[in-house]
Amino acid sequence: MTTRIDGKDVAASVIETVKAGAAALKSSSNVVPGIAVVIVGEDPASQVYVSSKGKKAKECGFHSVQHTLAETTSEADLLALVEALNIDPAIHGILVQLPLPGHIDDGRVIQAINPAKDVDGFHVINTGKLTTGDVDSAFVPCTPAGSMLLIERARGKDLSGLNAVVIGRSNIVGKPMASLLLMANATVTVGHSRTADLPALCRNADILVAAVGRPEMVKGDWVKPGATVIDVGINRIPAPERGEGKSRLVGDVAYEECAQVAGAITPVPGGVGPMTIAMLMANTLVSAYRHAGQTPPSF
Ligand code: NAD
Repeated sequence: MTTRIDGKDVAASVIETVKAGAAALKSSSNVVPGIAVVIVGEDPASQVYVSSKGKKAKECGFHSVQHTLAETTSEADLLALVEALNIDPAIHGILVQLPLPGHIDDGRVIQAINPAKDVDGFHVINTGKLTTGDVDSAFVPCTPAGSMLLIERARGKDLSGLNAVVIGRSNIVGKPMASLLLMANATVTVGHSRTADLPALCRNADILVAAVGRPEMVKGDWVKPGATVIDVGINRIPAPERGEGKSRLVGDVAYEECAQVAGAITPVPGGVGPMTIAMLMANTLVSAYRHAGQTPPSF
């Protein structure tokens, strides 16, 4: 029987640990975890993400600030804000919402964030630590970190002897996902847009992670019977059956047909999505503990 992996449930338990950890840090050291979210421009999807991050931070008992900058903000002004946040002792996590407007170099801004406050885990110091296995002092990007917790629920922490296939090689999902799976002893292959026979590669996977951005690309006959399937994709497609102009969210995996074959599978929505924001809160809490010289809770 296929297990539907409920990301909302797992995310809720992460948030409970974060809340308890924040309360404990406040009473032991009088430190309140602080997160600053910076958004440049008016992209509606980004606005939604940013406001839900702020709400979740408040729910966790964090100090949360949002900096909303005009689309025309110069790179120099944005870098000056990042620098001010880098040295602000009340802020333990800095998140610059991507994408940035075209006249600003995303890379330059991300690399200007103090790596010890880079709760998105995108700074090269953090990606370097992850690939060399030093996760205890790194920040791991939230989406792969959350996906990994879901995989642990299905297969345990030690993936020795299992084949894992990650589809997608982006810096924010595919590559860090592959590093985490490798650290858990899986045998890892990364498939991407230039892979010769992706369905055949996927059929070999005990753990299949799709992070592509192509609606329902992974079909039922790509899935090895009993495999754990983690669908990172979030794609909005037209849903005329719901009324004119309506749309709905689907993943990179054709859920219904893959669920017939998989041992465990994440839905979209309600799978990886809620984990991403929960892990952002977890990373911010960990940062506050590190800044206070205390051992953070583990997730
Ligand atoms: P990206 O566009 O940066 O990378 C996509 C990757 O897919 C690339 O490496 C590319 O080589 C590969 N690819 C593209 N077409 C392919 C094809 N036909 N066959 C095989 N591989 C192909 O995207 P990303 O930022 O890694 O995000 C991937 C998906 O995950 C998107 O749908 C995004 O919305 C979603 N996402 C979800 C969350 C979450 O919280 N659940 C977070 C980040 C991203």
